[in-house]
Amino acid sequence: MGNLKRIWMVLFVVGIIPLYSASGQQMQKVKKVIVIDPGHGGIDSGAIGINELKEKDIVLEIAMEMLKWNKTVLNNRYDIYLTRYSDTLISLSHRAKLVNIVQPDLLISLHGNHSVNPKAKGIEVFVYNNIDTKSKNGRQSVKMANYIIKQLGEKLGYRTRGVKKENFQVLRETINTCPAVLIELGFLSNKDEVDYLKKEQNINVLALAILMSIKIK
Ligand SMILES: [Zn+2]
Repeated sequence: MGNLKRIWMVLFVVGIIPLYSASGQQMQKVKKVIVIDPGHGGIDSGAIGINELKEKDIVLEIAMEMLKWNKTVLNNRYDIYLTRYSDTLISLSHRAKLVNIVQPDLLISLHGNHSVNPKAKGIEVFVYNNIDTKSKNGRQSVKMANYIIKQLGEKLGYRTRGVKKENFQVLRETINTCPAVLIELGFLSNKDEVDYLKKEQNINVLALAILMSIKIK
């Protein structure tokens, strides 16, 4: 980090530069912050596809593409942080801790599915099973999950398996901080879906579609 950038950052952190800055008559709001959590990594490959594709690699590729799209097409609409930027294993509790430190407006955890039934296919989005739908984070999580399912189904023609509830640690330990969803991006045990995920152009499209599904209030 250059010295000048560091100085600006320090001024920002200590509150000399306000979070809201006046631009003309309008007050411009600060950017929304998103944490993307590519599952698994390192010695934990996650699911392994019938074409040897590894879940840890696909989810990282999609997360990195989301970073790129945000910079280019969305002109840095969001501040996006990843829980991992490389092929390393980070514990679930560390991922949750990072989210709780960053205090984002949304957490999206990315995974790939697997089944002993080779015909099982489709996309699923999970929210925490003990979610309080009266709380803001609970309400927003369910809304976001439904919207992602709808968008990926309509825009990409994915078979959708609906919004589901599960006691996933990364959701459980972050729901008091922000809306949190976990996307299962198709079955690596299904030939059609794993072949789809093997193509770079599909990864790019999928990353953009997820990014465009984000609605944060
Ligand atoms: Zn997984």
